[in-house]
Amino acid sequence: MDLDDALGLIAGVPDFPEPGVLFRDLSPLFADAGAFKAVTDALAGTLDPEVEALAGVEARGFLLAAAVGYARGLGVVLIRKPGKLPRVAGRVDYALEYGTATVELPAGVVRPGQRVAILDDVLATGGTVAATGKLLEDVGAVVDSVSVVLELAALRGRDALTNRKVHALQVC
Ligand code: 5GP
Repeated sequence: MDLDDALGLIAGVPDFPEPGVLFRDLSPLFADAGAFKAVTDALAGTLDPEVEALAGVEARGFLLAAAVGYARGLGVVLIRKPGKLPRVAGRVDYALEYGTATVELPAGVVRPGQRVAILDDVLATGGTVAATGKLLEDVGAVVDSVSVVLELAALRGRDALTNRKVHALQVC
């Protein structure tokens, strides 16, 4: 399957998780073997050769980071929602398109100076990726770039990421 067909499997779901929000559902894309491979390959192609590790944001970012990490021979740093990690290196609270959220970084998995690329499914307001970048930089890592499947341009996520190199497979 080519990348355009793969991205065409993303469904827009109105009024989820609350009225007025058009949620982009990537479940059909993940469930289709050809689409998942096309998107994995395309994301892998966005990475600089200098990247040493991938940070995947819970939960869909885990799937993407795991697949891309396998394809590129890179390990995955799990950026988690609060209360899941037994040892926490850092925690950042931030505002979402809907509500607030927190991300946590596991202790002892990122070394100072390590070049890390952030992977997630959707870039909306940019709060999640900005918080993830802060978590990584707070422990001395270098954020190489950000790669997402879909960027929702109207939510101006890039405005929160002016110092970042951002790759999006699709912008809508
Ligand atoms: P942001 O922090 O950029 O506002 O939101 C991005 C985060 O929320 C990502 O981790 C993403 O998984 C989730 N998210 C926000 N909006 C959507 C959406 O429409 N579809 C999906 N699949 N995830 C979304």
